Amino acid sequence: MENCLFCQIATGAIPSNIVYQEEDVVAFVDINPQAPKHILLIPRQHIPSIADLTLEDGPILARLFTTARKLTHEMSIDESGYRIVSNVGPDAGQSVFHLHFHLLGGRKFGWPPG
Ligand code: AMP
Ligand code: ZN
Repeated sequence: MENCLFCQIATGAIPSNIVYQEEDVVAFVDINPQAPKHILLIPRQHIPSIADLTLEDGPILARLFTTARKLTHEMSIDESGYRIVSNVGPDAGQSVFHLHFHLLGGRKFGWPPG
């Protein structure tokens, strides 16, 4: 998807602060952080949102979550705790239509979310 922001971040065409990347997955710092630690995890493949996932995407999802776990250890938030969020559609405030998981940590989060 040539005009998708996160596809372009995944290829490096648009610069970002990438903290981890491998064949299927890229993780980079959110440009507008909502917590002391705020990373976005994306598949390189263009999938618009969670609502577009199929069973075939299982391995990519597993890779995204195992990468998140590894990063929580590296950022030293694995014991204090963290939140993983994916916004879908207008009520949740999704603003980029390439599947991404927000990994947030380094502060306390309220529940339910506002
Ligand atoms: P959402 O609103 O859930 O779709 O999340 C999109 C996220 O992408 C927001 O938290 C933005 O701050 C973040 N974002 C937008 N543009 C960039 C960028 N160029 N680099 C890093 N993060 C970005
Ligand atoms: Zn994309």
